[in-house]
Order: sequence, then structure tokens, then C-alpha cells
Amino acid sequence: MAARKNVMRAVKVFQFGGPEVLKLQSDTSLPVPEENQVLIKVHACGINPVETYIRSGTHAKKPALPYIPGTDVAGIVQGVGEHVTAFKKGDRVFTLGTISGGYAEYTIASVDTVFSLSDKLDFKQGAATGIPYFTAYHALFQKGSAKAGETVLVHGASGGVGIATCQIARAYGLKVFGTAGTEEGMNLVLKNGAHKVFNHRKEDYLAQIKEIAGAQGIDVIIEMLADVNLASDLQLLSSGGRVMIVGSRGPIEINPRDTMLKGSSIRGLSLFSASKDELRECAASILAGIEAGWLKPVVGPEYPMEKAAEAHKDIIHSKGALGKMVLIMS
Ligand code: NAP
Repeated sequence: MAARKNVMRAVKVFQFGGPEVLKLQSDTSLPVPEENQVLIKVHACGINPVETYIRSGTHAKKPALPYIPGTDVAGIVQGVGEHVTAFKKGDRVFTLGTISGGYAEYTIASVDTVFSLSDKLDFKQGAATGIPYFTAYHALFQKGSAKAGETVLVHGASGGVGIATCQIARAYGLKVFGTAGTEEGMNLVLKNGAHKVFNHRKEDYLAQIKEIAGAQGIDVIIEMLADVNLASDLQLLSSGGRVMIVGSRGPIEINPRDTMLKGSSIRGLSLFSASKDELRECAASILAGIEAGWLKPVVGPEYPMEKAAEAHKDIIHSKGALGKMVLIMS
């Protein structure tokens, strides 16, 4: 829907709480880009699990109320603030962050979080690029020190970050194992770079991974649900192996002794804490992957703005991920 007299539709949070606190408003003022900012007409915005934690008020990051959620949008530049020379009105772009919130018809973003969107990708794919691919690269290489020839297990490979990790790891010459919880998810993981896939809802899947990894074990595990898997991950690692904690939804008991003989590392990471240099490196790799054609974001369930609350319910109580969930504005 077009903006009327400088107002737009946006999904706002006025108080922290369940998905029902996401309220679609039709009279939100259009944000105005300041110095080094870009105003974007949003076509699609990625939905990330972290946005549900922030909305519930349980996350370390608590925005001032009211706020509009959403970080990775794709759309068209509508205007630019002072000193912005890299973009102009009409450019197709995607973002890694927004200042005013992405679940809206218009948003502003700092110019250093805005990237040109190649004609090879549509807006939904653009909205599925920022957080998933930057996180995947950051976890694999900047924190996990993964190298070509090593084996990586993407533990939770069927969702936004998982598919991104499989594509990147395959392109960089790793041996890629992935897991998913449904047949459809497993097929998607295989189509997107994994050499082998396992079903994390099957009781014997860890034994299967162990058998295929052999005596060498797994060099790097990119873990999406550490509160469930961390203790068993330690059993799968190679000597010098690393578990990268990308996602966790609660506590878990592990035996520290399981890290000793193999000199295993457990390392947590947050894209929010990545340095500017690290993000620049991620961007260079991701833009090169899009250009080369191997980086193809997989768009999963799509929701209109009216159904943002339903999307937040579904991403947490998922029946089985199939790529990246997105909110569609137009
Ligand atoms: P998503 O699209 O909802 O995907 C969730 C993934 O977890 C799916 O592949 C799902 O598989 C898998 N999963 C479910 N049960 C599992 C189990 N028992 N063992 C292993 N995997 C299991 O979410 P996402 O966007 O990819 O994000 C994944 C996690 O990373 C979330 O916790 C998110 O908060 C976190 N994250 C962290 C950062 C960071 O900076 N640290 C950045 C982005 C995301 P099935 O649905 O097929 O069962």
C-alpha cells in the first residue's frame, strides 16, 4: 500500500509480551533519513527468532517502547540523507540492520548496513540474506576458524541460518553434514550444499553421524539449539574440534571432561557483537557469493503484515523449517 501523506503501515510493539503485542498501525509517521542514512521502501523483511525474544522482553537487548521490530529488509531506496553517495533513489537494496524497524512500509538504515541487491535475487531473497548469511560466515570462519577440507556439521540446517551455512561451507570447500527434522527439510538441506543429511528427530541420528564421520570426527559444529545438543556435540568432535553456539534457548548440563582429551573448544557468538571489520569481511564474501551465483537464499513461509503475530508464533513452534521466514509488504 502506498504511503498516504507521510504516514505508513507498520507493526509496532507498545509493551513487551506474547505475539499478540505486535500491533499493525496504519498511521505511523514516515521516518526521515538523517546524515549517512538511507530511506527504503520495504518490500520484504526477514523474521528472525531473536525478534521474538526481544518482543517478549526476556532478551538482553530491550528497545525503548514503542518500537518497530525487524532488521533485514529488502526494498528500493526512496531518499538519502546528507553525505550518502553510495546509493540514490530507485536503487534496489538489502540491509543488515535498520534504525526505525523493518516490519514497516518504509524504514531508515545506516548507510554502512545497506548493500546493493543484485538483479539475481528478488526482494524476498534479499530479506533472507542479511542476518542468516552474515551469521553463517561469522560463525564458520571468524569464530570457528573453519578451513577447506574440514568437516562441518550444521546442527539445524533447514532454517534461515542453517541453509546459509550449508551454502557457504560447500562453496568454501568443506565437507558438509546437515540436520533437519522433516523429510522436506532434509531434501532442502541436501539441495543447498550438504553432502549428507540426518534427521535430528530420529533417535539414532547421532550414531549415524558418528559412523559417517569415522575416527576423525567433526571439525566444526555450527549449533542452532545448544541447550539440547551441546553435550552430545562434544562426543562428535575431532581432536581440536570446535562447537560454535549460534542458537540456544535454555540451560544444559555438560561434562567438562568431554572437552579435555580432544582439546575441544566451545565458543558462543552474536552477530550483534561482531566488529565493523568483521562485518565488512562478511559483506565482501556474501556479495561475491551472490555475484558468482552459488549464494541463493531460500525463502520459506511468507506472511503479510497483518499476520506478524502468527509468524512469531510459528517460528518458535515450528513444525519443520524450510528456509527463511519473511514478512511481505508489497
Ligand atoms: P529457524 O529458521 O527457525 O531455524 C531453526 C532451525 O533449528 C531449523 O533448522 C530446525 O530444524 C532446527 N532445529 C530444531 N530442532 C533441532 C534440534 N533438536 N537440533 C538441532 N536443530 C534443531 O531459525 P534461524 O534463523 O535459522 O536461527 C537458528 C538459531 O540461531 C535461533 O536460535 C536463532 O535465535 C539463532 N541465531 C543466532 C544468531 C547469532 O548472532 N548468534 C544470529 C541468527 C540466529 P527443523 O525445523 O527442520 O526441525
